[in-house]
Amino acid sequence: MTTFEDLGLCDELLDAVEDEGYTEPTPVQAQTIPAALDGRDVLGVAQTGTGKTAAFTLPILQHLSAERIKGWRPIRALILSPTRELAAQIGDRIKVYGGRLGLRHKVIFGGVGQRPQVDALRRGVDILVATPGRLLDLEEQGHVDFRDVEHFVLDEADRMLDMGFVHDIKRVIRMMPHKRQNLLFSATMPAAVDDIVAEMLHRPVTVDVSPEEVTTDRIKQHVFFVKKADKRRLLIQLIHEEGIRRAIVFTRTKHGANRLAGQLEKEDIDAEAIHGNKSQTARTKALKDFKQGRVDVLVATDIASRGIDVDDISHVFNYDLPNEPEVYVHRIGRTARAGREGVAYSFCDDSESGYLVGIQRLLGEDIPVIEDHEFHFPAAVPKPGQKPSRGKPFSGKKGGGRGGGQRRHSFSDRGNDRGGHRRDSGGRGGGGGQRGGGYRGGGGGQRGGGGRGGGYRGGGGGQRSAGQRGGGGRKRRSNNSKQRRQ
Ligand code: AMP
Repeated sequence: MTTFEDLGLCDELLDAVEDEGYTEPTPVQAQTIPAALDGRDVLGVAQTGTGKTAAFTLPILQHLSAERIKGWRPIRALILSPTRELAAQIGDRIKVYGGRLGLRHKVIFGGVGQRPQVDALRRGVDILVATPGRLLDLEEQGHVDFRDVEHFVLDEADRMLDMGFVHDIKRVIRMMPHKRQNLLFSATMPAAVDDIVAEMLHRPVTVDVSPEEVTTDRIKQHVFFVKKADKRRLLIQLIHEEGIRRAIVFTRTKHGANRLAGQLEKEDIDAEAIHGNKSQTARTKALKDFKQGRVDVLVATDIASRGIDVDDISHVFNYDLPNEPEVYVHRIGRTARAGREGVAYSFCDDSESGYLVGIQRLLGEDIPVIEDHEFHFPAAVPKPGQKPSRGKPFSGKKGGGRGGGQRRHSFSDRGNDRGGHRRDSGGRGGGGGQRGGGYRGGGGGQRGGGGRGGGYRGGGGGQRSAGQRGGGGRKRRSNNSKQRRQ
């Protein structure tokens, strides 16, 4: 067990956390504090409630207290927060943790008179906690000087960007010295946060404490109806058109995986197959190549995919639909990890419509269909009232679903359709006519960002699916069909 002493904190801070009754560091603290004390940049994928505030304030307090400033104090640490409430909370924590260090801090935000804030800045502060709007207001009036900032924290970055602060953040970044420590925390990692990360952080240590659950609500799912013989061409077209660089393609058989990987290679797509017939060495090498970006596409069977834990897989292709609905959820959960978003494309031929019906029944919704592609094959669309078909369990072992806290599917698309030119026509796969249940775009739905009041953990519509573990498929199916009828 890691203790606060192990992290390298000074006595004053150790006393402070003890006074607070903290007996051991939380995971985000155990990983962030040593790296931040070392001067490293940190990318923390963590939501409110994980102890992230202490994770960034403690090392900053230690750094600042190690170098005493005589006379007037310039701003050496700047912490940006999206809301006043969060800014105020951070300020409170600084007071609690840093009470013995003799550092000065100030919290500034809009909606209140600026006089006391300006006065405090005049007197000099070591740490400034601020919301972007008021901060820039005061800067424009000449009350804030960023030139001495050594430590910069962007808290709740995803929420910050959602609230439209991207340009303000970039303006602030441009005004600070180039050489500084950057700590960025975000509950989720949408593409816009990745952009800020790339711009702001220098070789960051990544600390990821996002919940390990299959969050289908951050995965944009689509189905293509296609002849078996056209699947390969459709796959190649999508990979090329969308410039896909990190995808897993699932096939039913090992032989199919080998053959497809070879065919992709011929089309200038760096691909490797990974399945149970490959030696452990070959599998490890394929995974390493994939992780390091030497291979863009892994073609995998289900068994081989279980060890795949790569954070930034953008696309999962169900080249063959799984004949067990739970496997579908498990497969698509390879994307949208570490708080990111992901895309799952499923190819359904006319022999697989019954599998699709079963998958949609488990999800409780229809998967949106993409039809405007040259390979669209209407005969593969499930017939009205078609019954789900189901193959033999994929592992033959109990608990095969491994859903482990999967959310019920919710299609909370946030409107940045990477598919771009394609039209989504609401799902019309059978399963008992849940027509129109398909695509619910916009709305900002399941934004993990806030933490407080919270999207992320089961708020905002992410009901958990019934029968999460063990239990067996049968029970879960009946639960879900019940849910669906309600
Ligand atoms: P935060 O995620 O920073 O908003 O922190 C959530 C709550 O956890 C706050 O009330 C902190 O006081 C508390 N907290 C932070 N670190 C610890 C710890 N190591 N042990 C127990 N509670 C903690």
